Amino acid sequence: MLNYDLHCHSTVSDGTLTPGELVARAAGRGVTLLALTDHDDTDGLAEARSAAAQHGIEFVNGVEVSVTWRKHTVHVVGLGIDPTHPQLAQGLATVRSGRGARAEKMAEALARAGIGGALEGAYRHASNPNMIGRTHFARFLVESGQCRDVKSVFNRFLAQGKTGYVPHEWASLADAVSWIRRSGGMAVLAHPGRYMSGRGGMGSKSMRELLAEFVAHGGDGLEIVTGSHTPAQYAEFARYATEFGLLASCGSDFHGPEESYRDLGRLPDLPLGCKPIWQNWPAAHVCKVA
Ligand code: AMP
Ligand code: MN
Ligand code: MN
Ligand code: MN
Repeated sequence: MLNYDLHCHSTVSDGTLTPGELVARAAGRGVTLLALTDHDDTDGLAEARSAAAQHGIEFVNGVEVSVTWRKHTVHVVGLGIDPTHPQLAQGLATVRSGRGARAEKMAEALARAGIGGALEGAYRHASNPNMIGRTHFARFLVESGQCRDVKSVFNRFLAQGKTGYVPHEWASLADAVSWIRRSGGMAVLAHPGRYMSGRGGMGSKSMRELLAEFVAHGGDGLEIVTGSHTPAQYAEFARYATEFGLLASCGSDFHGPEESYRDLGRLPDLPLGCKPIWQNWPAAHVCKVA
């Protein structure tokens, strides 16, 4: 059984462990190939790579790009990217640049709902202020006693349509895929099951249209095994991957020991018949120095 994890977060975005701590935890739990995929930022890769070398595990450069497709926010993971590639670096800088103003609007919306001090409170939880996001607000709301955990904060305040939710325009699907591929990476549509759940979620018709566009733009893979999918969804998205000729990826989407659906090093195998995204990765690609 392969213990590969190609999706997780550090303090560079909205995880609670530093890149070095994250790699140490992954290695300690038996992961042999890890990709760090912070949201919209690649600043943790160098530290993670050197920690991976120390712990004797293989490391792949990653990123998770925030995308707006129609009215939906979707996430595209880039694997094997070159973080110094100008188009990728500039593209990610543009995506990050909207976060400050969005956070101010979120704080204003929460203030109108009677919750003060959210902007300062959220920034206290953001090690990287450029990447201020909903999770940092959620941690502040837990700390201030509004909800018992991060998940409940999302359900009550921060999910689409709730009091503290501020619509935002992220990267286009075409740009996200193109930045990743031009920098030498492979583009993977992350946690597709999440786009089909809840109020305003996609139906199977929209999912097929999204996948068709993703493939047309040069998308390579679909995340089949992820912390937020049920076993039935592994099978469901394995069928979509086959239908659209996409390779299969797997990752925990780990954010921290207390907050994750699934811990590092505890993923089931890809369903039979899936073609893994790493099938043609030469060791040299995996070990490419950032
Ligand atoms: P942002 O990019 O600021 O919109 O934040 C998105 C992040 O919020 C995701 O990457 C997750 O870490 C977190 N998130 C989104 N929805 C939920 C949820 N329902 N429960 C817990 N965390 C969530
Ligand atoms: Mn996140
Ligand atoms: Mn995501
Ligand atoms: Mn993620």
